[in-house]
Amino acid sequence: MMMKKKQDGEQTRGGVVLVPFPSQGRINPMLQLGTILYSQGFSITVVHPQFNCPDPSTHPHFTFESIDDGIPEEDISSWNIWNIIWGLNDNCEKPLKEWLDRRSSKMPDHGHQWRITCVIYDDLMYFASAAASHLKLPSIVLRTNSFATFLARAAIPLIKPQKYMTGDPVPNLQSLRFKDLPVAKVGLTEDFLRLIPLMIDTRTTSAVIWNTIECLEKPFLTELQKQCQVPSFPIGPMHKFAPDSTSNLANADTGCITWLDKQTDNSVLYVSYGSQVCIDEEEATEMAFALANSEQPFLWVLRPGLVIGSKWNEFLPEGFTQSVGERGYIAKWAPQKQVLAHPAVGGFWSHCGWNSTLESASEGVPMICRPISGDQRVNARCASHVWAIGLQLDNELLNRKEMESAVRKLMVDEQGKEMRQMAKLFKEKIQVSITQGGSSYNSLNDLVNFISS
Ligand code: UDP
Repeated sequence: MMMKKKQDGEQTRGGVVLVPFPSQGRINPMLQLGTILYSQGFSITVVHPQFNCPDPSTHPHFTFESIDDGIPEEDISSWNIWNIIWGLNDNCEKPLKEWLDRRSSKMPDHGHQWRITCVIYDDLMYFASAAASHLKLPSIVLRTNSFATFLARAAIPLIKPQKYMTGDPVPNLQSLRFKDLPVAKVGLTEDFLRLIPLMIDTRTTSAVIWNTIECLEKPFLTELQKQCQVPSFPIGPMHKFAPDSTSNLANADTGCITWLDKQTDNSVLYVSYGSQVCIDEEEATEMAFALANSEQPFLWVLRPGLVIGSKWNEFLPEGFTQSVGERGYIAKWAPQKQVLAHPAVGGFWSHCGWNSTLESASEGVPMICRPISGDQRVNARCASHVWAIGLQLDNELLNRKEMESAVRKLMVDEQGKEMRQMAKLFKEKIQVSITQGGSSYNSLNDLVNFISS
């Protein structure tokens, strides 16, 4: 599956500087990219803000440098996303410039290993492109989500606000409805309107790397080629090229794997809403009843803070744990990729973050899609209506009956079997994409040559 790997110490292609956005769903793909480029002979330096910093011990061959971010503690603890995005882009350009400057002037004669060939930055960290161009260094943007999300974001400023909540199709994005666009729930805020052009701008960028796969994005390819003017490298799913690259911001409960080992194949529903979203107590309680009443085995990630107003699992209905007994396992954080690859897992009830969606498709696991915000709606719509590997819970408010019925459809009924078959087909296609001659494999080769040249 892998491209020919260089031995450790053969970092002769020069240095790559990575600038991740400090959230779990964005740190992971950036470190996976670093692992892939390291295996191809580049030395890797990760320049990151001071908060949510990746654990250096998980990637001992990389150099980690923290820069002053100036983000107040209260914005971090309340995850005030707009203050964080604007703050990072306002505060970090200068320290990054200074660091790049020092690095370039200090090490001119250390040969290839130290020469910075390019800066690769998360699309939310667009200040990095300005800092790189100041030093005449090439920069490449990493988009950690799909073509469909990129096109949906680019479409937003052109849409009349009264259209947002409608089910009408978005022009040129046939399968997406206006209400699937990343703004539909909150409306178009000034912050969002300001961010979109900054995120999609590639004027100072040499190329775009995508953590996606051509076989999933066929319906969006033509439109993307029209809108993306610089070379594009879809090299996903990167976790498959870099299976050992993990950087958990929380400790994973490995007891759930021992529990999965005791379950029969395809019998377990894995339930997780990723690292950031929060749901209200009413929805969480309805989920608990649906899981209990469905009589299906389940592994539920209850991340502390997931349920608004509950520190952890206090919201669970009385008697829940006793009534489900050994049939259910609750974890605070799970080794998700390992869980999805486990033969006992037959379905994934997900918020449809892009990493979760890719990880599920890569393992042939069909989904119950319950998007909460942002690009999750786009991913959910693609999973349910473009790839036919998911069942979308579309109503704003849901009760336990609707949820229980979705669980049964996915885990027991014919509809679920069809989606599982389709998901297995995608798993095979994805496997082909990352094997020699496949689309992601070729794109990765092209990317390595592009950076080296
Ligand atoms: N994840 C995990 N254990 C969990 C929940 C999530 O390892 O219990 C990982 C998951 O594998 C994925 C990332 O956290 O790589 C979540 O990213 P995603 O884009 O799905 O959602 P986000 O957290 O950004 O909303």
